[in-house]
Amino acid sequence: MQYRKDRQGNDLSILGYGCMRLSKKGAGIDIDKAEQELLAAFRAGVNYFDTAYIYPGSEAALGEILERNHIRDKVNLATKLPQYLIGSRAALDRYFDEELARLRTDHVDYYLMHHLTDVAMWEKLKKVGILDWIGEKKRSGAIRFIGFSYHGNTDNFLRILDDYDWDFCQIQYNYLDEVSQAGRAGLQAAAAKGIPVVIMEPLRGGKLVNMLPEGARAAMAESGRAWSPAEWGLRWLYNQPEVTVVLSGMNSLEMVEANCRTASEAGANSLTPADFETLEKVKRAIREKERVGCTGCRYCMPCPKGVDIPGIFRCWNTMYTESKSAGRFQFAQTVGLTRQPAFASQCIRCGKCEQHCPQSIPIRDKLQEADRALRPLPYKLGISAVRAFMFRKGAEKR
Ligand code: SF4
Ligand code: SF4
Repeated sequence: MQYRKDRQGNDLSILGYGCMRLSKKGAGIDIDKAEQELLAAFRAGVNYFDTAYIYPGSEAALGEILERNHIRDKVNLATKLPQYLIGSRAALDRYFDEELARLRTDHVDYYLMHHLTDVAMWEKLKKVGILDWIGEKKRSGAIRFIGFSYHGNTDNFLRILDDYDWDFCQIQYNYLDEVSQAGRAGLQAAAAKGIPVVIMEPLRGGKLVNMLPEGARAAMAESGRAWSPAEWGLRWLYNQPEVTVVLSGMNSLEMVEANCRTASEAGANSLTPADFETLEKVKRAIREKERVGCTGCRYCMPCPKGVDIPGIFRCWNTMYTESKSAGRFQFAQTVGLTRQPAFASQCIRCGKCEQHCPQSIPIRDKLQEADRALRPLPYKLGISAVRAFMFRKGAEKR
């Protein structure tokens, strides 16, 4: 196992254990199988374990496994505040205390504001007193380090990053998402401030392994490298020294073994020009199915009406490169449920964006097409209902 430093100089294994998809038995977690897999990773040097309040059964299973193997104090435990459920200062304590009880511990090493998608969400937390609360928890030792996980656009990521003295952050990042969400720009901005970055969805939830088109697999096979699709994705991340930990949701011993081997071999700045050329071919093969040739360059932004142009195009493309449901889910996550609405329906057809697009995309027309695909009536109604619940005024939600 290789290690990179956090902000305080602690060693973090470059492979972290993502506990969202622990092994299952029926509808619940297969605690014995999950235990074997977690322990195999621990013995191979993994020392960062990531869970969240809303991952079903995950905190409780992780707490049980760490306690019965007497390894709680030998690992770094990361979990997350369900910030979208918080309506008052009292709720902060209630959720946090419940998490400690589930995890069978008296402190969390790395605590994240879960799933921020725009700066307004962070502002809402500040209004309920999160800053004082964090200060108290850090002083008492109940929280060692504070961070946030993020799914919105690059601009909002940079604003949140600059608004607080974070110990770390967590972003979705992989070779297909280089210019979406926080993206490479976000990663590098965090690293420039000395903020460690934990990577989630390094293989897009397994899509860069299980759903690769034939052309992508052929490019890998012809590369002369005996690397699996998963290894290509992980090595691309480890190649970047700005990346601190890469989370992988492992649910077999073979997966643990393969990922630990990659994490012991892959170095920063070790990919060759030929490797990058292979990955370009892989990306081209994946993108052949895309509906719009948006590169995510963001020259069209900001839109005066707040439309998230590249975000909408990315989700629309995902409907064709992965699946309709994947694109719509991504849309709900990154565009549909941000506090400031960013829908294509807000477009007033002023045309400013099209003057700046190097790809000459007829953005106004394509936005309407994308919106019809991403938000058919049932989805539109569903997103409106969830927004009404999440953003209802002054509600104490628990
Ligand atoms: S045409 Fe629409 S999307 Fe483009 S800048 Fe104007 S309002 Fe925004
Ligand atoms: S300028 Fe064009 S290519 Fe760039 S993000 Fe906007 S729509 Fe996409």
